[in-house]
Amino acid sequence: MANTGTLLVTGGAGYIGSHTVRHLLELGEKIVVLDSLVFGHREALPLDRVTLVEGDMADAALLDSLFAEHKPEAVLHFAAFAYVGESVTDPLKYYRNNLAAPLVLLEAMQRHGCKRFIFSSTCATYGNPVFVPMNEEHPQAPVNPYGASKWMLERVLRDCDHAWGLKSVFLRYFNASGCDPSGEIGEDHDPETHLIPRILMAATGEIPEISVFGTDYPTPDGTCIRDYIHVCDLASAHAKALGYLRDGGETTPVNLGTGRGFSVKEILQTAEAVTGKTIPVTYGPRRAGDPPELICDPAKAKAVLGWEAEYKDPRSHLQHAWQWMTGPGKGRYPR
Ligand code: UDP
Repeated sequence: MANTGTLLVTGGAGYIGSHTVRHLLELGEKIVVLDSLVFGHREALPLDRVTLVEGDMADAALLDSLFAEHKPEAVLHFAAFAYVGESVTDPLKYYRNNLAAPLVLLEAMQRHGCKRFIFSSTCATYGNPVFVPMNEEHPQAPVNPYGASKWMLERVLRDCDHAWGLKSVFLRYFNASGCDPSGEIGEDHDPETHLIPRILMAATGEIPEISVFGTDYPTPDGTCIRDYIHVCDLASAHAKALGYLRDGGETTPVNLGTGRGFSVKEILQTAEAVTGKTIPVTYGPRRAGDPPELICDPAKAKAVLGWEAEYKDPRSHLQHAWQWMTGPGKGRYPR
């Protein structure tokens, strides 16, 4: 893979973005991060090795000066809102930030002749599973505005390819979890809604208990099954997708997961083993919109990108996340 220029990473100070930046720097890439720092953290970036532009991706003038100065050869686009529940109650916020704002970015790319795009898409573009494991041919029928906003941008990207030759990889993530094994960067969302960090917050006492959403699902132990993909594996997949585009690859979707599913109860048991603590649990009703089982078929990622998950066992995700949560910053960047 020829390393030919600077990469623009939107949302590079966020959870998945910052882990990807770290990995790309290890590979010797040159990076400019554009982040509003609304959800991102300056401290998640090595500022001696990365240029951080604090701003809005819908600011066309800012983008023009950024593209003129740095001439990025590719864009990795992470910046997005990702609270499914909030997307249902405030859909326009999601369509504005996840769909309309990237149009300004794409217009800047077109003006400046930048034709490679790696898009943080999601298995939420599929909606309720018709079959599992889910491959890229699975019908796309998103069931909430978050998934719909990502699905619509995929469509926009296909149309841009047709019109002006933009080549994109839509990386459809399953459940991102874990953090860098160094414990130096990690997941710090406010509010935190995801299962693994909340379980660990219950383990440290930061929240009184973890509530399990539903025990009557048609799964072996009655709780939902998910495919947990380590954030460092997501990071390496982005580097592979970049190599694929640099080698002349066509626009295509690629699922990112391990191909293995774990129930909420299994994650809880593993968390107790990793932390050595009894985690206070309550068993509550189902959360609206949760499908019983989401499992990725990662065959295409292997065939097309030459990528495979390294951390297939969620024990390692929990170990790394626990290290981050019990480290010097207690799982939080300075506010
Ligand atoms: N979950 C749970 N309690 C929580 C958070 C999540 O039981 O406090 C369950 C949720 O119903 C789902 C799984 O854990 O089955 C993963 O949820 P998460 O929000 O982490 O990711 P999602 O699958 O919604 O992307």
